[in-house]
Amino acid sequence: MAPQYDAVIVGAGFGGMGAAIQLKELGLGNLLILEREDDLGGTWHVNRYPGLAVDIASVTYSYSFEPNPYWSRLFAPGTELKSYAEHVADKYDLRRHMRFDSVVQGARWDEEERHWVVSTEGQEPVTARYLMTATGFLSQPQVPKIAGIDSFAGTVIHTTAWDDSVELNGKKAAIIGTGATAVQLIPELAKKVAELTVYQRTAIWVLPKVDFAMPRMVQKVFARVPATQKAARAAMSTVLEGVMVSAVLHFKQAKFINNGAKLAAKGHMRRQIPSAKLRAELTPDYDFGCKRPTFSNSYFRTFTKSHVRLETNSIARIEPDGIVTADGRKTEIDTLVLATGFNLWDVNFPAIEILGREGRNLGKWWRDNRFQAYEGVAVPHFPNFLTLASPYSYSGLSYFTTIESQMKHMRRLFGEMRNTGSDVFEVTEAANAEFLDRMTANLGDSVFYQGSCETSRSYYFNQHGEAAILRPTSTVNAFREAGRFPLESYKLNA
Ligand SMILES: Cc1cc2nc3c(=O)[nH]c(=O)nc-3n(C[C@H](O)[C@H](O)[C@H](O)COP(=O)(O)OP(=O)(O)OC[C@H]3O[C@@H](n4cnc5c(N)ncnc54)[C@H](O)[C@@H]3O)c2cc1C
Repeated sequence: MAPQYDAVIVGAGFGGMGAAIQLKELGLGNLLILEREDDLGGTWHVNRYPGLAVDIASVTYSYSFEPNPYWSRLFAPGTELKSYAEHVADKYDLRRHMRFDSVVQGARWDEEERHWVVSTEGQEPVTARYLMTATGFLSQPQVPKIAGIDSFAGTVIHTTAWDDSVELNGKKAAIIGTGATAVQLIPELAKKVAELTVYQRTAIWVLPKVDFAMPRMVQKVFARVPATQKAARAAMSTVLEGVMVSAVLHFKQAKFINNGAKLAAKGHMRRQIPSAKLRAELTPDYDFGCKRPTFSNSYFRTFTKSHVRLETNSIARIEPDGIVTADGRKTEIDTLVLATGFNLWDVNFPAIEILGREGRNLGKWWRDNRFQAYEGVAVPHFPNFLTLASPYSYSGLSYFTTIESQMKHMRRLFGEMRNTGSDVFEVTEAANAEFLDRMTANLGDSVFYQGSCETSRSYYFNQHGEAAILRPTSTVNAFREAGRFPLESYKLNA
């Protein structure tokens, strides 16, 4: 029986939308995009906390084929990304393919019918020739397992479920976590609440943020002469690429860059915080680059305000009206903000159960055999399946470089399928093994293995201590390989 759809895509964020645009362009327009939320945009729909903004200059954070000349700032606020996602969905006619409030549970390759069967909570299963998972890296919220957390009688807000109706003015609040999200949120929170205690387990390197409102004149020039925005994008990407390749991938040879960044972050802190004790508490003990860098001009200064307090003792338990630290002290609060990030490695790779040929379970196989995906998209034993948020796929720069190199990979792969009249593909074991070996070797000189990252608690590392998220090559290499990978890497109609 013919499957119901050419393809099912899981996730209606920028990754899923990019895949849909590409499939439509390839003539595979009978699509279903399943999304568990009630609207599109992924990260930019779910995250609505005060202070949310991109941390990579906006000229690079968009599809290159759909530039937005009207970003209001160099680092656009999150609401503009959500609007941009809506614009893309409308322009590329993607909404009619989307089904919201659909939590995908799993997908199974049907060997006989040679198609995927996708199960969604409370809905009839659907069948599709191809399956693409675009479930994101930072999409499964982490809720800390702290004793007594469920007994807390006040208001609890996770940053991924921000509720604007919650009154913050005059509250005695605590925030747990000092990662990238907290760096954006803490200064905003401090403007409203009466008391704020920040519970820090791992300090974070924070650099000054060179941000400004985009002058109308620049927006007009970008709109009228798109080549100018392209040039700005290229210039910014080149700088980011240089930093990424040298400071992250070639740390062994270029650690002076990381050390320079550390000095810059310390200088930034010194200008904002007079107290040496406070500065020491806020200074990380791991190398710059172990974690995604953060930028803020107000984070450090916030800790100098009289109603804000940094707490570095570990949390022993939460009681109905407060938090007790390991030294026995209790801080009374009525509002608890969880900026505890995302669980990547336990529940997100993959985000749903995926059963391939001979019932191979992707999640189990990854855990038993190392996390891996050929060119960050394909896995042996999983025919007609592309995993878009996968090991070794993220370039580390603007996520759109990853999305677009994956789109390019799809063009080559599906082009070959069309040329050969095939309807089933599967990456070979040999191609996958060669790719994994190469990525492993490339990581050898990186900050992850040559630097001191043990105490960073960075989500770049998985449960086996491997830094298996970032693709350890330049983006130039990623784009080149996406358009030139050996076609023999795939068995077609095997
Ligand atoms: C706060 C924050 C700020 C960020 N800032 C930047 C930045 O400045 N620059 C940058 O490059 N990157 C940034 N990122 C990373 C960002 O996630 C990516 O840039 C990009 O948005 C990922 O797109 P995606 O579509 O792959 O994943 P997501 O946007 O995470 O979308 C995945 C979608 O899959 C859905 N989904 C997951 N599981 C299921 C399921 N079982 N069933 C149905 N649907 C499911 C989710 O609901 C979600 O809508 C940021 C991330 C966060 C959290």
